[in-house]
Amino acid sequence: MDAADVADDLEKVLFSSDQIQARVAEIAALIDADYQGRDVLLVGVLNGAVMVMSDLQRAMHSHVEMDWMAVSSYGSGMQSSGVVRILKDLSVDIEGRDVIVVEDIIDTGLTLSYLMSNLASRGPASLEIMTMFRKPDAAQIDVPVKYVGFEIPNEFVVGYGLDYAGRYRNLRDVGTLAPHVYS
Ligand code: 5GP
Ligand code: MG
Ligand code: MG
Repeated sequence: MDAADVADDLEKVLFSSDQIQARVAEIAALIDADYQGRDVLLVGVLNGAVMVMSDLQRAMHSHVEMDWMAVSSYGSGMQSSGVVRILKDLSVDIEGRDVIVVEDIIDTGLTLSYLMSNLASRGPASLEIMTMFRKPDAAQIDVPVKYVGFEIPNEFVVGYGLDYAGRYRNLRDVGTLAPHVYS
């Protein structure tokens, strides 16, 4: 078949699907060990965390539940403003729960920082973060991230839930886009 394949728009693959799945399995094992006998509530941030949420919980052996939030940064432009609007709140009460926020990627960390104070005010028993990718700028972030899949260079990447203009979330690999996509 000659149909265009979305993967053809990648310039460079940084992490293959196999590498990602192997790392997710390692993190799932860490979480299983850290939360022995406690039901974990994974809180995914829509839409980017959809893939990692789905793979992470299936790689876990402990009892696990999931819920979702959708947030949007106020302000225009490419920079994260750190002021966040909740578009979709949790469906469950997290008071007394062991919560792990699941993120696709942390760049400046501003969005996540706001989200963490908001969630902390609801009185969870514990509150941690798992992110599949983290960029160097996130070093400025004051929220400690317990589980990191991969540290990545300061490049714009797509795939495994990460989009460009809504597209490319369905790629199994993660990589950079070819220049022709932007023009
Ligand atoms: P920040 O940590 O700067 O507040 O924002 C993180 C959000 O910006 C992520 O959840 C993601 O939506 C977006 N983002 C940051 N870096 C990238 C990237 O390299 N690729 C894509 N597709 N989204 C990114
Ligand atoms: Mg995200
Ligand atoms: Mg996006």
